[in-house]
Amino acid sequence: RLYNEVQELKGNIRVYCRIRPFLPGQNNKQTSIEYIGENGELVVANPFKQGKDTHRLFKFNKVFGQASTQEEVFLDTRPLIRSILDGYNVCIFAYGQTGSGKTYTMSGPSITSKEDWGVNYRALNDLFQLTQIRQNTVVYEVGVQMVEIYNEQAASIENFLNLRTLGVWNTALPNGLAVPDASMHSVRSTEDVLELMNIGLMNRTVGATALNERSSRSHWFVNIFPQLVYLLVLCKHSFTRIIKAKTLLPILYSVLSVHVRGVDVETDSVLRGSLHLVDLAGSERVDRSEVTGERLKEAQHINKSLSALGDVIFALAHKNPHVPYRNSKLTQVLQSSLGGQAKTLMFVQVNPDGESYAETVSTLKFAERVS
Ligand code: ADP
Ligand code: MG
Repeated sequence: RLYNEVQELKGNIRVYCRIRPFLPGQNNKQTSIEYIGENGELVVANPFKQGKDTHRLFKFNKVFGQASTQEEVFLDTRPLIRSILDGYNVCIFAYGQTGSGKTYTMSGPSITSKEDWGVNYRALNDLFQLTQIRQNTVVYEVGVQMVEIYNEQAASIENFLNLRTLGVWNTALPNGLAVPDASMHSVRSTEDVLELMNIGLMNRTVGATALNERSSRSHWFVNIFPQLVYLLVLCKHSFTRIIKAKTLLPILYSVLSVHVRGVDVETDSVLRGSLHLVDLAGSERVDRSEVTGERLKEAQHINKSLSALGDVIFALAHKNPHVPYRNSKLTQVLQSSLGGQAKTLMFVQVNPDGESYAETVSTLKFAERVS
């Protein structure tokens, strides 16, 4: 493919581990983190237990230590974002117990300062920079969905509030409509996205106070579908019929230095990639003896969906012929964007606190199994 970049990441499933720092006021805590190697090694140990068999070694594609910045984390994520325009379906998850930094990594602690931005804002910002090559020459449309899965039910998260400036796409989704009922918002700039996500985050938080930290018990998705709509104003919406991309792209490149992504030059067709950014529900095991009713049901749904996700990624990583997508809503929704040509990145989030040792080990084991 002449103008599509070579696949930058080898393999389709990567696992990055990120350890959050201790929070202000936690200075006296003992840590379970013993060692972080340069090549993705991580050694954890229970600080409250002496003797042998207390250390455990894990290996991931990369481990980000407590001092890692949002920018550093994104630098290693960036190539995936580019590949979306080359037609790949990309899924980025944050997995870990509540309080381990999933939302910090995906969304960031605030959106007012760019330095704080998590993966989702940076990804969209990149996408706009890549797609706003030249107004009126090459035009992309970017559709965004925000979806929450709570108790095995998927729902659009922003619907309660009025969206002032953003249009809603009613057209059928290009590549496998993930959540048919969720609204699709057409966004043109990072500002549009900030507005949209703010509304989504607000809703999630509003829901959280009312329902006692619901955000840690639901999966939160931002689904992004960029697509090239036309090349040159003249052939709006129908460039494939009028102009051969093979002829046009070299001209655009040499005359205007425009590097067009999102077209398959060989077949002259539009490439339809997608990006799913998922802030998963907290992975902590809930003690069955201590919860009942609604809380128990939530816990069962979360366990079921997270283990289904683990099974799907495991099957994909091991190239098993049967991939059990149908075992949960989470994996059903993600079916079209996991497997096949899809690229998956999982952030395994770790709380460094020694008191979380057991949860940390179970989180790391989950991640090790899928990597
Ligand atoms: P989760 O979404 O997994 O429940 P959060 O992202 O809400 O966890 O993080 C829990 C707390 O830790 C928050 O106060 C958050 O700001 C803080 N935190 C998480 N990761 C980092 C980090 N890398 N640097 C600084 N603070 C962090
Ligand atoms: Mg969170």
